[in-house]
Amino acid sequence: MRVRMFKYLYYNRKKSIYFTEERSHKLTFMEKALLCLNLQRKIEIPFLDLDVNTVCDLRCAKCAKCTPYFKKKESYAAADVIGHLETLLKYVDKIYALSIIGGEPFLNRDIGEVIRFCSDCGKIQDVDITTNATVMPDESVFQTLAHSRVVVHISDYKLKNAKLTENKKRFIEKLDAYGIPYQFFTHENWLDFGPVEKRGHGKRQLKMMYYCCPMNSCNIFNQGKIYRCGRASYMGNHGIGELEDVIDVSCIHSRAQMRKKLRWFYTRSYSSACEYCSDKPENVIPGIQIGEA
Ligand code: SF4
Ligand code: SF4
Repeated sequence: MRVRMFKYLYYNRKKSIYFTEERSHKLTFMEKALLCLNLQRKIEIPFLDLDVNTVCDLRCAKCAKCTPYFKKKESYAAADVIGHLETLLKYVDKIYALSIIGGEPFLNRDIGEVIRFCSDCGKIQDVDITTNATVMPDESVFQTLAHSRVVVHISDYKLKNAKLTENKKRFIEKLDAYGIPYQFFTHENWLDFGPVEKRGHGKRQLKMMYYCCPMNSCNIFNQGKIYRCGRASYMGNHGIGELEDVIDVSCIHSRAQMRKKLRWFYTRSYSSACEYCSDKPENVIPGIQIGEA
C-alpha cells in the first residue's frame, strides 16, 4: 500500500511539475516544494488530451490516435464534451495541462464553445489546442481564440499537397493578424507500434515497453472516459480487447472514489493496451500520408 502511494505521488508530482514548466513557467524551489507537498490534499491530474472528434483532413499512416482507421467518423457536440468535462471536474481540483485535440479539432463546428469553456475554467492551469493547421475555421473561432488564454500548438508536418500547404500559410497569417499565441511542434520522428493486434508479450516485456513508451502519459479523455493513450482510446472505441485501465467518470460519485481510481490508474506498471503494440516500435517520418511513398 505504501509503495503504491509513493509510486503515485512520485508520478503525479513529477509530471505536474514537468507539464507546468513545459507550458507556463519555470517553478522556483519553493513552488515545486508546495506542489509536491499538496497540503490541501487536492485531487490533481498532470495532463489530459480532450478529444473533440475522430475526423481529420489528413490521413497520417502512423497517427498515434489511429484517426484514419476509426470506423465511425464523428464530431462530438460541445454540450457532450463540456458535460463530460464538468462530470470529471466535479471531483478533480486541478488539471495542470489540457490539450484540445481530435482528429483535427478545427473540423468540429462547436470548437468555439469548447475553447471558451476550457479557457474560462479555473480548474485548468494551461490550455492549448493541437492542430495540423490546414483547416480554416470560421472568423468567429479566431475571435474566440483571440479572447482566450488558449495557445495554438501546430504539428508542423512537411506536407506535399500544395493546397494544404497554402491553407496552413493562411491559417498562420490569421493567427498573426489576431495576435493569437502559437507554437510549432516539429517532431523528428514518430514511433510505429504496428497494427493493433494481440501479441502475447510476457509481463516483464509489457512493463519494459510501457516504461519506455513516450505515449504512456498522453492520457486521452474521450467521451467521458480516460484512456492511457491514443491507441487505447481507439481500442475502447472499437471494442478491441478487454481494457482494464480506463476511468469512466460517470461511474464516480465521490472525491474518495476519484482519488482511489486515479491512484490506481497512475500506478499501473503497464496498460492492457500495450499487449496490442509491437515491443520493437520503429522510427518513422512524421506525417507521411497513407499511400504516399
Ligand atoms: S493530422 Fe495526422 S496525426 Fe494528427 S490526427 Fe490527423 S491523421 Fe492523426
Ligand atoms: S498501448 Fe502501451 S506501448 Fe502502446 S502506445 Fe500506449 S502506452 Fe505505448
